[in-house]
Amino acid sequence: MGLFGNRHDAELENLFQSSVGPASDFKPRRDLGFYVLELFFLFNVGFLTFMLAGLVVGARHTEPISRLFLNPAQTITTFSKMTLMLSLALIGAYNANVRRRAAMVLVIGHVIAVAAQAWLYLGYPQNLLYPADAPYLREGILGDGIVVILFLYLALKPAPVSRDAIDVDGVDLQSPVSTAYRWWLIVVGIAYSGFAIAIVMIRALGDLESGLGAVFGSPDPLVSNSIARCATIAVLCFLLSARAGLRKYLTAPLVYCLGLSTIGCFILALLGKSTIVTRTGARTPGAWFLMVQIAVDGAVLLVTLGLRKLQYQVDYRVTSLSPTSAECCLAAHTALREAEQKPQATAREVLTRVDELIGGVRSRNRGLLAFPFWLIEHVFPIFAGLRPEFSTMSREERRWMMRRYVLRPNYERSRSLVPPIAEVMFSVGDVIHGLLCLCYFTTETAHHQVGYILPDARTRLQPDIACKTPPVGADPPELPLDASDAVGLKPLSKSDEARTLLAPRIAIAYDTGAIPDEVDYCIVGSGAAGGVLAHRLGLSKGDGNSICMIERGAYNSPRQDFSDDELKMISTLYAESGLQLTRSFDFTILQGETVGGTTVINNAICLEMPPPSRKEWASFGFDAQVLESHYARVKSEINIGELSSESVNKTVESLFSRGISGYNAECNGLGPLSQAKRLSGNFKNCLGCGLCNIGCKRMRKMSVLETYLPWAMARGVMVRSGSDALECETEPGVGSKKRVTALVVRGRDGRVRRIRIRKALIVAGGAIQSSRFLMDSKVGGPAVGKGLSCNYAFPTLVEFDELIDAFDGVQITMFAAPESYEAIFETTYNPPGGYSLSIPQYFGGHAKMMGSYRRATNFGTLVGSDPSGSVRKRPDILFGHAIEWNQNPDEISRISRALATLVRIARAAGARRIVLPTHPALSIKLDSSIDQTLSSMGGLLNDKRYFNFATAHPQGGNMMASKSHGERVVDLDFRVRDCDNLFVCDASIFPRGIRVNPQWTIMALASLAAESIAALT
Ligand SMILES: Cc1cc2nc3c(=O)[nH]c(=O)nc-3n(C[C@H](O)[C@H](O)[C@H](O)COP(=O)(O)OP(=O)(O)OC[C@H]3O[C@@H](n4cnc5c(N)ncnc54)[C@H](O)[C@@H]3O)c2cc1C
Ligand code: SF4
Repeated sequence: MGLFGNRHDAELENLFQSSVGPASDFKPRRDLGFYVLELFFLFNVGFLTFMLAGLVVGARHTEPISRLFLNPAQTITTFSKMTLMLSLALIGAYNANVRRRAAMVLVIGHVIAVAAQAWLYLGYPQNLLYPADAPYLREGILGDGIVVILFLYLALKPAPVSRDAIDVDGVDLQSPVSTAYRWWLIVVGIAYSGFAIAIVMIRALGDLESGLGAVFGSPDPLVSNSIARCATIAVLCFLLSARAGLRKYLTAPLVYCLGLSTIGCFILALLGKSTIVTRTGARTPGAWFLMVQIAVDGAVLLVTLGLRKLQYQVDYRVTSLSPTSAECCLAAHTALREAEQKPQATAREVLTRVDELIGGVRSRNRGLLAFPFWLIEHVFPIFAGLRPEFSTMSREERRWMMRRYVLRPNYERSRSLVPPIAEVMFSVGDVIHGLLCLCYFTTETAHHQVGYILPDARTRLQPDIACKTPPVGADPPELPLDASDAVGLKPLSKSDEARTLLAPRIAIAYDTGAIPDEVDYCIVGSGAAGGVLAHRLGLSKGDGNSICMIERGAYNSPRQDFSDDELKMISTLYAESGLQLTRSFDFTILQGETVGGTTVINNAICLEMPPPSRKEWASFGFDAQVLESHYARVKSEINIGELSSESVNKTVESLFSRGISGYNAECNGLGPLSQAKRLSGNFKNCLGCGLCNIGCKRMRKMSVLETYLPWAMARGVMVRSGSDALECETEPGVGSKKRVTALVVRGRDGRVRRIRIRKALIVAGGAIQSSRFLMDSKVGGPAVGKGLSCNYAFPTLVEFDELIDAFDGVQITMFAAPESYEAIFETTYNPPGGYSLSIPQYFGGHAKMMGSYRRATNFGTLVGSDPSGSVRKRPDILFGHAIEWNQNPDEISRISRALATLVRIARAAGARRIVLPTHPALSIKLDSSIDQTLSSMGGLLNDKRYFNFATAHPQGGNMMASKSHGERVVDLDFRVRDCDNLFVCDASIFPRGIRVNPQWTIMALASLAAESIAALT
């Protein structure tokens, strides 16, 4: 039976299953020890629940609940002791590596419980007022005695040998905070040993009718629990002080025990349920003791948690994540990575990178990013069948939980008990997986494992100008033997080429001035459109007018701030650190947020608006012919031309060309495609290092940052970075129109200021952000935010037998498209961090794909969407004005056809395997069975849940159209429909998506808009 019950879906499910593999492969073997502890845990949980329920419903006459009503403080102590014992048992069950230690603490705790019960049973005559106490103590001795024997067996049984041995992190550091923590545990151990002895003394010698004597005088079974609780806490603290490696596993039981005691006493005190019934049936007030218990247990808890946090901050340098989230991060990394990737050895480094990444997030996502770790650590184990905290389980158990309950494919999720919960768990797990991939595959260890070589270590990139065309087997250069070794000298570049490199002066930081109080023109956003507008207005209006540009992102200079570290640059240059998601968390939208906007991180590929889009735009009243002169002007300004031989990976080029020719010979799928051709872009002496998406630190990409912005600055345009344009203020203007009077800006110092606008405000914040700005400013009419479109990006991983080293060469190189432009096809490749994110597989499947990094490339497709997205008007707490996207069936079938076409291209190119970016990934062997697979796939991938959506090309939201279109936001002269002096020009004004890479068109439009604005103002 398939996902939807028909034969086709069953076929598709079979296809997915052969790529994913069954969950049962992950199931750990469980031994007797597991079942003993699990049984003990379940029995105690059941008993605890029964007692709690009895308390709540007031079952005063039911044994054994009746005595819980007699002495509130002792009742809480009993619950707290049971929590301590059962959480120790649970951790012992799910982690064979700490089982002996957990069992040892349980043995000591239960031996003391047996001794205390035996003493109270044998040492004192039966209290006739409570006749049930004696038989209860007798049964307790017997029950706890059996438990002691069982746990003794577990404590003495040799521990299994495991990769996950606890002494990996077992070093007790010698920092002052670490020493203080160790001593604190010893002090707590001594104190609670003292409490246990004191209880015995009070029960033996005290006045059992008042004061402490009444508290610890009765009922006897609860008194024995108090003694056992204090003694067990003491033993646990001594153990934790001596074995630092155990702290990450066994601190949780201590925290729960003390937490429950503190909160329980607090609730009882609040409810006024504090009266103690003594051994003789007299009543005495007990509120004072509840206060003492809250003070003692609460203080111990707070100091323990505080010292633990401090130790993580000082010793482990974890400052953004809480200690438990940090442990969860380590545990998730070791669970998700395969053994040959040496996860234990890299765990701390990955944690540091995750912590830094989260700490560096500027947006509201900051808190959101730490939250998934918290969920996986504390909440998901409960949904996965009452397990202990994620990080306290053994690696095998963690892997099993992740595969069985979190990262399960959609056909398994839809069959789960509560599918919506399974979906949420999956989304959270997927975010964690992506985060950990990014942080791991950007480390030196992972680079080494996958065979990636950083640009500066590649032989052919030693001079200023690439000396050979890639790929050359991206071997690292020899190292010099001594100072005179020529290998250590940088070869001179050919002089004529070297002269055309950009001068360093354009990379100096230049925007340290204050935000002005009043300007003639203000531009919001410094990206593709903003940059061109600033330069053109600087030229036409610069003399005698003040022009200011407000940019939310920071000013990052290529020479001072850019590096080849993917992780660092993604968190520095991308909006929301690259994690901008739609409201349903299933669609990633990439945009830049830095001076220079998205052009700083884009691939610099330039394509003009294709004929089908020109036709579509004409129906909105826009004649694309007017852009021709502007395309040409931009082309000459930023050096748009065909990619140079030195920058293109020749193997990728020839494989893709072979694939397209072979496909065209067959001519299936989308029909004939154009010949494969090398793309054009805005480069100057590009080295083909393959890192365009993290900013070109070598200044070979003619982005806005290196071109229009410095040119505009030179003409007096002020650029103010780190400043957020919040909204504009308006007053009634001519006729029914408004007039913008001021822009409200939050500067980088956090202060909100008002810039008075004398002539015009131009919004160029890009798709989504510009719509949000108009919404917040309450201008533009009801259609603002509607009709978002994009190019869905689907990079497929294509694996060959030969070495390609596709990372050595410009990231996007080749192009082919059908006449309809229903989808276009481009080759892409990413450095290991980005590449790892694009693989929608987990565990072994993911590791296998990473293992073939040097033999793989991406044949990607961009599928133009319908205007099926929107920016929500009403802001919410999580997202502000959230992005919503509802892909329609037509779009899905276009995506499906494009993917089938890519499979055929890959086969014609001679690839061995292709992995489609579906969810879960479809790994298809390109052998003789391919036609059958394709014929089933073609009609089957018809459900959006199968796709992994992402785009780097959001467009629309503030539709530009002629006045006859009621749903327009912007008129054809770029003016917002209800304002005199407010203009919008950026990707947001596209009436429909243009199906190809859009920056050239955006720049040409900005060039046109600058003329229009100059004429109108
Ligand atoms: C990874 C990637 C690769 C790409 N590759 C290509 C490619 O090869 N070819 C191509 O044609 N296109 C490419 N694109 C897309 C292209 O770069 C963008 O479509 C284009 O830059 C959009 O231009 P824009 O002016 O609309 O907005 P942006 O360039 O995004 O600039 C908008 C700027 O406004 C700022 N801003 C927004 N709101 C505010 C506010 N309220 N206050 C202050 N500042 C604000 C933002 O921080 C941003 O810097 C790529 C995009 C990505 C993400
Ligand atoms: S490939 Fe991109 S990042 Fe590398 S030198 Fe060329 S333009 Fe710069």
